Amino acid sequence: MGMIYLDNNATTKTDEEVVQAMMPYLLENYGNPSSIYKIGRETRKAIEESRETVAKILNCDSSEIYFTSGGSESDNTAIKGIAYQYIKKGNHIITSKIEHPAVLETCKQLEKEGFEVSYIGVDENGIINLEELKNAIKDTTTLITIMFANNEIGTIQPIKEIGEIAKEHNIIFHTDAVQAVGNMRIDVQDLHIDSLSLSAHKFYGPKGIGALYVRKGVLFQRLIDGGHQERNKRAGTENIAGIVGLAKALELAYQNLDEHNEKIKSLKDYYINQVKEKIPYIKINGDLERRLPRK
Ligand SMILES: *Cc1c(COP(=O)(O)O)cnc(C)c1O
Repeated sequence: MGMIYLDNNATTKTDEEVVQAMMPYLLENYGNPSSIYKIGRETRKAIEESRETVAKILNCDSSEIYFTSGGSESDNTAIKGIAYQYIKKGNHIITSKIEHPAVLETCKQLEKEGFEVSYIGVDENGIINLEELKNAIKDTTTLITIMFANNEIGTIQPIKEIGEIAKEHNIIFHTDAVQAVGNMRIDVQDLHIDSLSLSAHKFYGPKGIGALYVRKGVLFQRLIDGGHQERNKRAGTENIAGIVGLAKALELAYQNLDEHNEKIKSLKDYYINQVKEKIPYIKINGDLERRLPRK
């Protein structure tokens, strides 16, 4: 009997169509995108087309997208990069207690370096308290970093409200959207998001490739020094096959979004009902409505 895999929050299987799109960049098109001759220009074009695809889906400009090695690097770059950049304005960061380690450990590291971090709690449904968030804001707050959807229970945070609060107080708002991208529509303008992390392997793309959106005008220090790649913000010869795979996986996810979510939701509801029937005293963690379809 084949294995039944039930942990698509940890990672997903790479889609065959995605692998097919990547293959030419592993086997044939090996040019360095920084080279000015033909084979370099070809891979440059593939990267910039992929950047356009990501930008269109998030409703931002392609010049606001940076490719990274994944969700962890995107979170580190945004949080450290923004914290360091705006240190003269203040050293206070607000986050939540339920963030992924990519955010929590980054904040802990910044605390060791002299930053002050406030960790906001969540209610019994796993949703952060907006009053607690507002009360945590100080004159020295430069960054709010709150995840879009939780990786354990799938609850979705009130992102638009957080974005509005941040904007009102002239604070930069970063969101770890690694669990949300590919599963729901995200418009960074409508939601007032200044910075956002995503990772391809959570939506049927390859591992080791992600992206970071940072709104034009929001400055951040780079973590990886070296060449001029990613407009001087992330040195290193680009993972072209990965980038092409990320864009393809994203495109496929949004092409089939409603249909896929409906199917997943009905499977999930069936599963929950069956479990409830068999085990009457079961308790489901997290808000039952404000959550990702698959959680
Ligand atoms: C998986 C995950 C990450 C880390 O992404 P990687 O690409 O594995 O580094 C960060 N945040 C959340 C919410 C995740 O689910």
